[in-house]
Amino acid sequence: MTEVGALTAVESARDTINAAIAEFRGSLAVVTSFQREGVIILDLVMKAAPRTPVITLDTGRLPHETFEIIGVLEARYGIAVERIEPDPAEASAMVGAHGLDLFRDGVPQRMLCCNVRKVRPLARRLAGTAAYLTGIRRGQNTERADVEIFDRTATPVRVSPLAAWAPEDVARYTLNHNLPEHPLYAKGYTSIGCEPCTRAIEAGEDERAGRWWWETDAAKECGLHFSPDGRAERTVDVLMRDVLQKAGPA
Ligand code: SF4
Repeated sequence: MTEVGALTAVESARDTINAAIAEFRGSLAVVTSFQREGVIILDLVMKAAPRTPVITLDTGRLPHETFEIIGVLEARYGIAVERIEPDPAEASAMVGAHGLDLFRDGVPQRMLCCNVRKVRPLARRLAGTAAYLTGIRRGQNTERADVEIFDRTATPVRVSPLAAWAPEDVARYTLNHNLPEHPLYAKGYTSIGCEPCTRAIEAGEDERAGRWWWETDAAKECGLHFSPDGRAERTVDVLMRDVLQKAGPA
């Protein structure tokens, strides 16, 4: 079992959650997509502060299995998960301009889709909230290797009680507490998101290799656009501005 200082992984996560509840009481939420880690956060938080809002992003592209596990968890904890949806005008303007499956056209288009369906709806929902809890672990991929347990550079503050957990800690807690699992794990998925952007992984692949698997590392480095006066802008920002113009005033 992973040790965090003198504490076990579970003790450390409980301490983090209790500290977050004490500091942000009344202005704290769980944000989860119901992967194993998110279900562990939910279990720990429901035992400590059962009235904490539980939020998920209903992007409009989720697999039906995600709604199955939401139903199971709502029944288990007696909660109603808050489903956050994209702004209809923004989604409609994006799909009208670029098609439903625009994310296949390039990294900027994928980022645009994630902005419209995930980033902006979550930012709108969390405006005025002091902090949110996530199940992010440092070992999930290199981009998460330096994740802080309390990330106070983020607004709202992002709290990741499982940051130091190893996969074995996740498996042990899930088993010991008889937690339900997202049905797609049984089909070889190790990271679960939108239906068209997630697949099962092959033996030896990185945990998150099943996300946007068609993107090469070289493609991921692209995405800059130059305006007529020579300013560099990310292509996704250009696309986003165009979508917001088409969507009209909020
Ligand atoms: S994961 Fe795929 S479908 Fe979901 S918001 Fe991002 S690009 Fe769009």
